[in-house]
Amino acid sequence: MGVRLKPMVVGVRDVTPPLLAPHTTLGLGGPAERLIEAGTAADLVSAVRDATGPVLVLAGGSNVVIGDAGFAGTAVLVRSEGLEVTGSGDEVRVTVAAGHDWDAFVAQAVAEGWSGVECLSGVPGSAGATPIQNVGAYGQEVSETIAGVTVYDRERDRIEKFTPAECAFTYRGSVFKHRDRHVVLDVTFALRRSPLSGPIRYAETARALGVEVGERVPLAVARETVLGLRRGKGMVLDAGDADSRSVGSFFVNPVISAEEFAGLPEDAPHWPEGERVKVSAAWLIQRAGFERGYGRDGVSISTKHTLALTNRGGGTAKALLGLAAEIRDGVEKSFGVRLRPEPVLVGTDWS
Ligand SMILES: Cc1cc2nc3c(=O)[nH]c(=O)nc-3n(C[C@H](O)[C@H](O)[C@H](O)COP(=O)(O)OP(=O)(O)OC[C@H]3O[C@@H](n4cnc5c(N)ncnc54)[C@H](O)[C@@H]3O)c2cc1C
Repeated sequence: MGVRLKPMVVGVRDVTPPLLAPHTTLGLGGPAERLIEAGTAADLVSAVRDATGPVLVLAGGSNVVIGDAGFAGTAVLVRSEGLEVTGSGDEVRVTVAAGHDWDAFVAQAVAEGWSGVECLSGVPGSAGATPIQNVGAYGQEVSETIAGVTVYDRERDRIEKFTPAECAFTYRGSVFKHRDRHVVLDVTFALRRSPLSGPIRYAETARALGVEVGERVPLAVARETVLGLRRGKGMVLDAGDADSRSVGSFFVNPVISAEEFAGLPEDAPHWPEGERVKVSAAWLIQRAGFERGYGRDGVSISTKHTLALTNRGGGTAKALLGLAAEIRDGVEKSFGVRLRPEPVLVGTDWS
């Protein structure tokens, strides 16, 4: 069975003026020298191959902070769409074009009875960006269902298929993150044909569902519950909710050694991460004295979630990164733990 949607954009086309801020969820960042849209995988390859100078691949713009001076090169907007379905028996394989809206894909998976990505409902952005930082939420990560990733290797000038092992997925990372070498063209997910979700692993989701951790629930119930939890935290894009003008979590939860962890207060929320310990960045930030809503110069911590830094309107990338640096330094001073940003910083630095 094959399902192909008609791409909204066909060919490679210039966008003028080449403003980047409107293509980011923060609404921040100066212009690119050139901005182009690529409507298919072939267009994406030729846009990147033919560009002179630096190239920024941008899809949903929900995990980037672009500097106020903009990007001195060509920004390529990934606008390919569509999916292809194969597989038989209990497993379904769905190959999703890089520019396809992630949540539209999740909604379709839930409607079709394909289990495995339902807890990732409401994550903004494109399907092609999900392998970049091994998108995860509410107990699921895409590394659990990704069966392969098709990329254009800019160094070798050829199209390649990456196995999950070659993607080298880690917590909010992969071989692709912070490297410009590979452009994701499509991602294949291996999902289970089932009316039920995967086991609910996240305690907060289980509580909201009224089930025990490890139980399964109808796919649509899992999706609606996750969307409800996310809305309550400003983690679903909503033009009417200033708390969603963010990149989601600005900081990753720090993963530290057992010795470092021993130096933290006993009530610090934490989880095992291999031999190391993952600590709640939100808890560290709050305990270091940064309250929700704290900010200045048009930027602030979300009023609903301590980890999200938001543009309240009139903010700048400089102000946002200044606030981030203040929080990072405050946490380091209080606890000796240095927070790292989750989004990709473009044309800017905060060290
Ligand atoms: C409100 C909100 C909530 C969020 N919640 C979560 C969450 O729960 N979990 C989570 O993991 N993330 C979350 N995020 C972050 C973000 O949504 C994800 O990282 C998402 O996958 C980014 O997709 P994008 O298309 O917007 O990527 P972009 O922001 O456009 O790009 C991000 C990075 O990926 C690169 N990239 C994008 N597409 C490609 C491609 N086709 N090939 C090569 N490189 C590419 C870009 O160059 C850039 O480096 C949230 C963000 C927001 C705003």
